[in-house]
Amino acid sequence: MNRKEFLKRSLYGAASVVAATSVVGNLTSCCGKQPLAEPKSECELKLSLQEWVMYGDTLEEKLDNMEQLGVVGLELGGRGLASRVGEIKQALSNRNIKVSAICAGFDGFILAEDAQVKAAFDSSMREIVAAAAEVGSTGVIMVPAFNGQRPCKPHTLETREYLCEQMHDLGEYALKCGTTVILEPLNRQEAHYLRQVADAAAICRDSQSAGVKCMGDFWHMKEETSDYAALIAAGRDYLQHVHIASRGRRMIPGEDGELDNYIDGFRALKELCYPYYVSFECGCGGEREPLINSAVAMLREQWSKA
Ligand code: MG
Repeated sequence: MNRKEFLKRSLYGAASVVAATSVVGNLTSCCGKQPLAEPKSECELKLSLQEWVMYGDTLEEKLDNMEQLGVVGLELGGRGLASRVGEIKQALSNRNIKVSAICAGFDGFILAEDAQVKAAFDSSMREIVAAAAEVGSTGVIMVPAFNGQRPCKPHTLETREYLCEQMHDLGEYALKCGTTVILEPLNRQEAHYLRQVADAAAICRDSQSAGVKCMGDFWHMKEETSDYAALIAAGRDYLQHVHIASRGRRMIPGEDGELDNYIDGFRALKELCYPYYVSFECGCGGEREPLINSAVAMLREQWSKA
């Protein structure tokens, strides 16, 4: 390498460092806009359950049982939601329970190569988003692509830019309806594309729409080196929902004993004064009623220790 080439590369390198620093600076300011040190005692743990996780034979029974436990959120599936809007509004009227989130339920996927599959995603997702707003949901959870969904756009810079553009449009649509869309990172067994909470938060930032949010799922967060760091990275600007399950087998929290420690993540949620829900998304390895009841008590205890 001659001196001219060396200088050219060095200058390029210096410019990269400046660019990287400014990006890091933006990230810091994004997370730093909200005060992190509000009194911990003011931050309550708002628990939620997916409809199919809760015990009870009917929606009314499930809601009665949730009220008994002081659970304040109900998470519903997105499939067929438009036809259930009246039923759900009626069931939740005069109760201290709100729709915490709508979980997927759309056709197709956003990173589909096949135009018909992408069109199916666009129309079904928008129908679910509109219904989600009607029932007062914080947002609609989505995954850009599961490993098994093919053909999928390749994992390239162009695809990320495409995803941000598409998310921008979807986020703006959700805002107009009165809700949001929530990106969910999954573990690598389920989705290579989006695995970590901070990566999802960066896509929210680059989508440039306040209607694009992200979430953490304690089950999938085995990808993270720190529950605390992952949730803090998403921060108040982007973190809109949290899923919880036992950490060994994805059952009711507590079913995996010592493994089921959420204190590090809860500490982040308390520091953020996270105002949304922690929602059970899990299987059940035994008798549902006592397992859920003791899980609720155990999570409240861990919250108080965080
Ligand atoms: Mg989940």
